Amino acid sequence: MTPNTHDTAAAAGATADNPPDALSELARIWRRYEGDPDGAIRVITETGCKAIGVARCSVWLLDEGHVTLRCLDLFERESGQHSSGIALAATTFPGYFRALEAEEPIAADDAHTDPRTCEFSAGYLTPLNIGAMLDAPVRMGGALVGVVCSEHIGGARTWSRVEQRDAAFLGSLASLALELGQRARREALLAATLESTGEGIVAVDTERVVAFNRRFLEMWSLDAPPRDLSLLRLHMDGRTRKLDRFLADASDVLAGPDGDTIDVVQLTDGRTFERTGRPQVLRGTIVGRVWSYRDISQQRRAEAALRASEAHMRDLANRDGLTGLFNRRYALEQLGAAMVASEGAGEPVGVALLDIDYFMAINDTHGHNTGDAVLRDLARVLGERLRGTDLVARYGGEEFVVVMRRAGREQTAAVMESLRSKLADRSGTDDVPRYTFSCGVAEFPADGREATVLLGKADERLYAAKDGGRNRVIAVD
Ligand code: GH3
Ligand code: MG
Ligand code: MG
Repeated sequence: MTPNTHDTAAAAGATADNPPDALSELARIWRRYEGDPDGAIRVITETGCKAIGVARCSVWLLDEGHVTLRCLDLFERESGQHSSGIALAATTFPGYFRALEAEEPIAADDAHTDPRTCEFSAGYLTPLNIGAMLDAPVRMGGALVGVVCSEHIGGARTWSRVEQRDAAFLGSLASLALELGQRARREALLAATLESTGEGIVAVDTERVVAFNRRFLEMWSLDAPPRDLSLLRLHMDGRTRKLDRFLADASDVLAGPDGDTIDVVQLTDGRTFERTGRPQVLRGTIVGRVWSYRDISQQRRAEAALRASEAHMRDLANRDGLTGLFNRRYALEQLGAAMVASEGAGEPVGVALLDIDYFMAINDTHGHNTGDAVLRDLARVLGERLRGTDLVARYGGEEFVVVMRRAGREQTAAVMESLRSKLADRSGTDDVPRYTFSCGVAEFPADGREATVLLGKADERLYAAKDGGRNRVIAVD
């Protein structure tokens, strides 16, 4: 350091513990303070005391209206203490501020008489016994925002060129620290915003994940996001049924402004995510892509349940409550549809009407509940025997109708005959007594082209079967 010509005692003290490399040491460790703007300000004031060899070094900040100058941090070398919070009314020091607006630091060898600092004399310098001030402006984006003050206790002293340059350097560092602080606040605000949404968000460039929120990690069961995009894709691939269009390659990531996408991702664990992809634009250039995920599993489940219950309701309306078979109305509808379809294909449709023999007697002998059990039994036996394309319905009381696609009279009658003989050969149980049925069969289009005509024909043959002694199938007149 340059020897102090005015105050040798202070200069001697400064030389003793004032390593010439205090500033280079600070430059070396500066990166440590990137995430710690308050620490950065404190290390500036400590280094200022050392490097310039003063008793007090402080960083002051102007408010936006330049009304108040507030001390962010003051380091006093003798006590080794930091303090803050003192405020000065900036408007009462116009000469000082005019001087600060100049490029160079204010080097006031005698602060009481120097026109730039004499405004402080009575109210500030005298009570604190400050004799000389070396103040460097702190600027951000060219505008004055504060000042780094190096204050010498005692009489006047001469500030050397080197000291003035060092003070200017401290001013630049303070500006950097303030900027770091602002950036840290902006980033914290941005991170808080990112975390405040229920959506999982990840931003990627062509190779890496550049931002994400915790919800994204949760949704994709990640402890930390893989830095490498291909690893992330691999992880997601393992958890999805189908993962097209996602992060496929650089061209996908850099898809144009019309590259907004919205689609649905099915996960192997059953969850469903709605995915939105948007280009990330920085100063007019697409630099990456932001994906956001919304878990819509609950919504999807609710929709599916609603659809199922609607289908169930529709189905119920078509069903017979006792047997669970389709009802007469639905059977007629389906017979009509089967005829239309078969007409085009040139195929026959077989229709069979069944009526349980002496059902009245079953009710009378065994009771109505047993009668019901017989009805359910026949429904089950019919359902088991018939093909998926065949339709079985309860036509009324103890009458059933069977509609068989691609089956003529003979084929339909053969199926009914095998059922008839099966039942006739069965012996009764406690729950279901032995019973038989009679059956009349008709064929579309040979016996008629309309449902009523066809059913009328089948009914005629059913009654012929009754007349003929019951327990038989009749398919011809
Ligand atoms: P046939 O051999 O001539 O057909 O004589 P049947 O006794 O079976 O004929 P009928 O039509 O006279 O009797 C049908 C009986 O079926 C009358 C009715 O009480 C009974 N029935 C109709 N629906 C039900 C039902 O849901 N449950 C029970 N247990 N009986 C029913
Ligand atoms: Mg009957
Ligand atoms: Mg009957």
